Amino acid sequence: MHKVKLGWRGPEVSEVCFGSLAISPLQGRVSVREGREILSYAFYRGIDWVDTAEIYENYNQLQPVLSQYPELKIATKSYAVTKKELYASLEKARKELARDVINIFLLHEQENQLTLKGHAGAWEALQEAKAKRWVGNIGISTHAFQGVRAGALQPGLDILHPIINYQGLGIIDGSLEDMLQAIAFASDLGIGIYAMKVFGGGHLAREPEKALRFIRNIPGIQAMALGMSSTEEVDFNLALLEGKEVPIELKNAVTHRERKLYIADWCQGCGACIEACPQNALYLNEGQALLKSGDCILCGYCGRVCPHFCLKIV
Ligand code: SF4
Ligand code: SF4
Repeated sequence: MHKVKLGWRGPEVSEVCFGSLAISPLQGRVSVREGREILSYAFYRGIDWVDTAEIYENYNQLQPVLSQYPELKIATKSYAVTKKELYASLEKARKELARDVINIFLLHEQENQLTLKGHAGAWEALQEAKAKRWVGNIGISTHAFQGVRAGALQPGLDILHPIINYQGLGIIDGSLEDMLQAIAFASDLGIGIYAMKVFGGGHLAREPEKALRFIRNIPGIQAMALGMSSTEEVDFNLALLEGKEVPIELKNAVTHRERKLYIADWCQGCGACIEACPQNALYLNEGQALLKSGDCILCGYCGRVCPHFCLKIV
């Protein structure tokens, strides 16, 4: 597998990062055990880092694989706002992942300069943790081009994890062109960048070659997180990236079925999912949660907050 250096200060990693949301309970596509087997297989195929987040609730799923393969690096994220919250998040990650050092630790979903200002306590804690070598590199994930610009200027930031795909799906505050310009700006400052939602949450999976080629051709992006929920998907994506012909059996095994968010009709209209959605893709109408068509990136974040288990990706 092709190795890359993540910016001026980041580690050397495989071009593909294993996006573990796809095997997490949040998406419910595979069992915990199957998820571990897929991650182990990805490592065997040369993918040497895994992306997760506290919200994915899968540290316990990943830990046995991380213990088996100490070379496997980890990137995680936290919604912590204050210093105290960040230290609690970091301690949880170190304990549940059984790692003294978390290779990459990001503040989750930072939208702009103001959001980062609001998280000043958490950022200070991350800088301290880096100085103590409890984390290797620090940064932010973002669905906003203004997040990329603000992150690039954040003191001590090493890594950015922005949403980017050839249709600009999921960018919450501007166009694809805005995002590309922000990425170029950050890259000029030596920030390591790995792409998120390359397949637009599944919406672009019918043209995977195009989706991967687009990311590869962006000069400022070194790596990409790919969510994969079967060993066939690992083989399929790697074959495409290695420029190999994909055997027909493999193509057939990786059926790019269109997925969607299902909202059960027993919704009580409490609004919790609307608050939780990073894309503002949900709204209430006559006491029922409804989806704005085209805005959902199938992240599954809404499902975890519904007290009545109404939301599921099917
Ligand atoms: S509606 Fe749910 S699955 Fe879709 S983007 Fe929002 S939080 Fe994610
Ligand atoms: S969280 Fe569940 S019950 Fe509440 S509005 Fe959303 S779908 Fe309905």
